[in-house]
Amino acid sequence: MDARRLIYRLYSDILLTDRLGEWRLLLERALERGYLVHSIRSAWDLLKADAIGSDSKVLVLRHDVDTDPGTAARMWEIERSLHIRGSYYFRLSTVDTALMRRIEEGGGEAGYHYEEVAAVAKRRGLATRSEVLSCLDLIRETFADNLRRLRERTGLPIRIVASHGDWLNRRLGVPNTVLLDDPSFREHVGVDLEVYDQAFMASVTSRCSDALYPMLWKPRDPSEAIRAGERFVYVLVHPRHWHANLRENLASDLIRAWETAAFHLKTLRPARRD
Ligand SMILES: [Zn+2]
Repeated sequence: MDARRLIYRLYSDILLTDRLGEWRLLLERALERGYLVHSIRSAWDLLKADAIGSDSKVLVLRHDVDTDPGTAARMWEIERSLHIRGSYYFRLSTVDTALMRRIEEGGGEAGYHYEEVAAVAKRRGLATRSEVLSCLDLIRETFADNLRRLRERTGLPIRIVASHGDWLNRRLGVPNTVLLDDPSFREHVGVDLEVYDQAFMASVTSRCSDALYPMLWKPRDPSEAIRAGERFVYVLVHPRHWHANLRENLASDLIRAWETAAFHLKTLRPARRD
């Protein structure tokens, strides 16, 4: 991480003012302009049924709960108060069973933000793309096991999953989605949709994701797409960009620093093959 990015990261983690009021404002603007707000699951159900009217405008909300389920809960309450519902995908490290059930009972979607490619690579010190691909069976087994446990723990069916983008995925050039490239494996584990599937993304006319200060959005602010009346706007957000929860953010930064150091130490030796 270069010095400027580190400064922005620290600013975001420690000093960023609470932006949840902005989140509410964005949603209110979309509603005023006639957008129908959906989770990924409810939008996918409509797409499959070819049931989105030609003059309808759709706004899909996806929350990746990488850290800070407390702020995710506040975002959910804002959406509830506006009578709208989005998707929330939880990592194993952020699973909040009560919140996930609350989201589902309130008509939203709570799913799995999976990262088994990066997790297995860290655990076994896999340092190259080809080493990762040679361990795909183990990675799939781990995913199947984690998903089964998460379903048991939450009592939720969880048939839609969203890939987490870890620093190690970027470094290895292997996204977590590779583990779902095999249709028979998907069927075996009961996954109907990976949120990056082209079958879904092909309908999206504008995709915006929140970003680290000072950009805040990439590639652009979704308010512009909403003002322009884009037909299918997809917004991806992460709690840490909306509220500087010092304890959560510093814990996550420390875990990342520790993981990076441990990975470097592991990969100084040849990766284990057993
Ligand atoms: Zn993520």
